[in-house]
Amino acid sequence: MNFLDELTKSSEKPKSEPIKKEEPAPKKEKPEGGVAWGYDLYPERRKESESRFANLMHGRDNLEKIRCERNVYKCIKTSPLVKLMMGALKSSGCPMDIRRHIACEECHPSVSGGYDPVLNQIVVCQNMATNEGLVQGVLTHEMIHMFDYCRNDLNFKNIDHLACTEIRAANLAHCSFVSAWMQGDTSFFNFKESHQNCVKSKALKSVLSVRTVSTEEAIEAVERVFPKCYKDLEPIGRRIKRNSNDMYMAYAEGYLYGYDN
Ligand SMILES: [Zn+2]
Repeated sequence: MNFLDELTKSSEKPKSEPIKKEEPAPKKEKPEGGVAWGYDLYPERRKESESRFANLMHGRDNLEKIRCERNVYKCIKTSPLVKLMMGALKSSGCPMDIRRHIACEECHPSVSGGYDPVLNQIVVCQNMATNEGLVQGVLTHEMIHMFDYCRNDLNFKNIDHLACTEIRAANLAHCSFVSAWMQGDTSFFNFKESHQNCVKSKALKSVLSVRTVSTEEAIEAVERVFPKCYKDLEPIGRRIKRNSNDMYMAYAEGYLYGYDN
């Protein structure tokens, strides 16, 4: 089993973080086979998750889970982008059932969400994505992975495939909101540059968070697939016409994602 995760806490400023700092320490512990697939970041997915903390944390855990599930439900009912992605998944032959495909769980504090391609399930980290805006950011990001997994024969162990879907998730779900706000006070050239840089650095961080690879290897993979994957705007670019009111509305809700602080 391996995970695609959304590494950066959505409430953090996306641009100015040093990449290294975001690498979660537990991934250094390689499991059998020498590759870390993200088990350590999602302890509830492991058999040994019934740790000594389990009973102690149970009360708070339940409250967090209930709050998380409530936020997931609200996003599915009201978020334009989440609804858009639901529609895209459905029309691509992978309809999403919120009970079956989304799980609120306790995670390592370095991640706020993840996608488990084996169970085809999105993990929303109930201890990290603690409000509706953050949950919305996680859902949109992870639904891009789900869409890519549905649409393509993705091999998540292939670092190029991984880099590609992370580029797409950063491009469609994360950096577009950030740059939409910057549009007002930057020249087009700078806007384009900073958007691409946002996508690259966010994708790089995500790749590093789930794979035990060197930063150089991860950078090479991101650069290798960037031209192709950055251009691929499915399903959002196809379904929301550029400059249409839908797009504006969707992007204008960026504050809900926690990017305004
Ligand atoms: Zn991701």
